[in-house]
Amino acid sequence: MISKIQNVKGGITGDMRGIVTDIMRFSLKDGPGIRTTVFLKGCNMVCKWCHNPETLSIKPQLLSYSDRCIGCFACAMACKYGATVIEGYGPGSKLAFYKDKCVNCGACADVCYTGARVMSGKEMSVDEVMTEVLQDINYYQNSGGGVTISGGEVSVQHEFALAILAACKKAGIHTAIETNMHADWRVFERLIPELDLVMLDAKLFDNESHRKWTGVSNSLILENIKKISQCLPIIVRTPVIPGVNDTEEEIAKIASFVKGLDNVEYYELLLYNPLGESKYQALGMENQFSGQKPQSGEKKRLLMKAAEACDKVVKVL
Ligand code: SF4
Ligand code: SF4
Repeated sequence: MISKIQNVKGGITGDMRGIVTDIMRFSLKDGPGIRTTVFLKGCNMVCKWCHNPETLSIKPQLLSYSDRCIGCFACAMACKYGATVIEGYGPGSKLAFYKDKCVNCGACADVCYTGARVMSGKEMSVDEVMTEVLQDINYYQNSGGGVTISGGEVSVQHEFALAILAACKKAGIHTAIETNMHADWRVFERLIPELDLVMLDAKLFDNESHRKWTGVSNSLILENIKKISQCLPIIVRTPVIPGVNDTEEEIAKIASFVKGLDNVEYYELLLYNPLGESKYQALGMENQFSGQKPQSGEKKRLLMKAAEACDKVVKVL
């Protein structure tokens, strides 16, 4: 194990730096076996339902969770920009946050021990990422797992992603990415030799709807999905969003596209996940899907039946 760390650290790519939002160990949902998922910051789409809204921008950002605050005022003492201040005197004093003055320096998060202030986005080198990743190499080997690079969108920091994937391959670790496939094909051509699996999204089949809900056309995405399915094993996933694509008609259209693809391990419906709602509040962003629930019962059964038109294995998460 130590010799493997030494092999992949300190090389030319080991010094390359990127912006990481999180490194999640012991993940069971981001590919086969036990995995470490590295979340990169920055996306080239703006899906209105995104459940990781802190990854949309590539810049470091402050999240402020007022329900975790115990009123110790350490953050106000640390803030040099007048963004976090104490207002009032004595027992009536309270914390105030002026987002327009915040420069996302992270000083308040450094002193907040309750997790009420959290910075998303940390600059890391490939060596630093690999030091974390390699801690669990025995779990990967024993469970058929590995490393998944997710986001945000992997292709936004593709040079950094490529360097991590290459270091993983060199250490004998199974590699996967989660991607929206919205990038020049040449980006994926470079990543392919370092990959064992691609987990990709097919969100909406109708181009105008895709543009309306994600900010971009799906023409390039569908083209890239067809190409990559001829090169590597893929898992196709559709996040099922209330009022966007949660109809049998829409899922059947995507399923018929999936039917024509090669190397599909399975097609998976990701039922609506409300877990990101608190992040929208913490970032001061509007969430138009607030209060929505995951599809269940008869609706879930009908959507799964529509998905079976793909003639592949179908899963629902
Ligand atoms: S440091 Fe954290 S817990 Fe203390 S007042 Fe600031 S946000 Fe609240
Ligand atoms: S991130 Fe920096 S500028 Fe923003 S509130 Fe915290 S200390 Fe102040």
